[in-house]
Amino acid sequence: MLKTNPFRRRITFEGIKNDIVYCGPQLVHLYINTNCNLRCEYCWFHSHLSDLKIEGRILAYEKFKEILEDCKKLKVEHIVLSSIGEPSLHPDIEKMINDIKNAGMLLRITTNLTFSKKSLLKAFAKVDQLAINFSAVDDESYRAMYKPLDKSNFSRVIKNIYFIAKVRARFKKPSIEMRFIITNNNFKNIPRALELYRDLNVDYVYFTFMDDTKYNKKIELTGKNKLVLKEILAIQAKKKFTFRTNIFDIYESLANYRNCAFKLRRCLIIWERISVEINGKASLCCHNENLTVGDIYKDNLRNLWFAKKTQKIRSLGKYSFNLRNKIWKSCKYCFAAEQNHFYEKMLDLSIKK
Ligand code: SF4
Ligand code: SF4
Repeated sequence: MLKTNPFRRRITFEGIKNDIVYCGPQLVHLYINTNCNLRCEYCWFHSHLSDLKIEGRILAYEKFKEILEDCKKLKVEHIVLSSIGEPSLHPDIEKMINDIKNAGMLLRITTNLTFSKKSLLKAFAKVDQLAINFSAVDDESYRAMYKPLDKSNFSRVIKNIYFIAKVRARFKKPSIEMRFIITNNNFKNIPRALELYRDLNVDYVYFTFMDDTKYNKKIELTGKNKLVLKEILAIQAKKKFTFRTNIFDIYESLANYRNCAFKLRRCLIIWERISVEINGKASLCCHNENLTVGDIYKDNLRNLWFAKKTQKIRSLGKYSFNLRNKIWKSCKYCFAAEQNHFYEKMLDLSIKK
C-alpha cells in the first residue's frame, strides 16, 4: 500500500462519516491495454486453460492525457497503471510514467516484469511501487504456470528484480511487492517462494486466493488441500521475515472464513478510489463489476466522481454491504481489505465517541 497524506485521508474519512464526498479520489486505477505475453493459468482473461480470445486494445495516449489533467484538477494522489494484460506492452508506457511522475503523483504499476528493453526497465525504476505477479519458484514451475512464449522469462524477472532492488537501495524506491496467487498447483511451493522473496530482498509479499471463473475451476484449491495449506501456513506464519507479508491474515482467513480472505462488514474503500477501463467504463472498484458509475467517453472524471448515482453506490457500501448479496459477491476476494479495515476502525471509533 502506498503512503497517503494523513490530512487527505482525514478529509476522505470525514466524508464517509457524513455521507458526502468532500474531495476527489485519492487513487485512480487506469487500465491501459488488454494484451499480454503470458498465459497464467489463474488469469481471468489470458489463461492457457481458457478458450477466451481477448482482442488487443490500448487506451489512446490522448485520452490518458485528458484523464491525467482531470486527476490533477481533482488533486489525485495515486495512480495505478494496470491492464487486462501486461501494461509494459502499451506503446506509450514510458511517456505515461514520465507524465504521472512530472505531475507529482505517486505511481504504482502491476506487472509481470518480463520485459528486456533497457529504457523500459529504467522507466519502471522511476515508479513508487511495483506489484509483481510472480507465483512460481523456479523455471519449471514458472513454465508450467505461465506458459511463456519466451523461455527465458523466469530468469529475466529475477534479473529485473535485482536491478530494481539496486535502484531502490540508492533512491529508496520503487518498493517491490510480490503477488502470489494460491492455486491447487502451487500452494506447496509457498515455503520456497518465501525463501526466494527473501533472497530477492523484496518489501512486501501478498498472498491471495485465485478468483475462480468457469475456466480455472479445476485448479481451485480443494477442501483436502486447504487443510494441507493450513498446516504449511501455520509453520510459515511463526517465522520472522525480512519483508512485510499478509501470510498471517491468509492463515486466519483459511481457518475462519474459507475462501473469504477477510471478514468484511462494509466497503469504505469505494469512497476514496475510482477505476477506468479501456472501453470507458468507470467503476468504484476494479474488482467488482457491479459498481459501474458511467462512461469516461461520455462524461469527465470529475462529474462521474461527484454524481448522485456514484454517491448512492458508496452508500450501499457503507450501509448495505453483505457478501451474500450478488452485488458484493466478488468481494469475497477483496484485495483492499487492509485499507477497508483501517476506515472501518476509524468509523467504529468515531461512532463510540
Ligand atoms: S500476466 Fe497478468 S494479464 Fe498476463 S496472463 Fe498473467 S495474470 Fe493475466
Ligand atoms: S472488492 Fe473490496 S474494495 Fe472492491 S467493492 Fe468489494 S469490498 Fe469494496
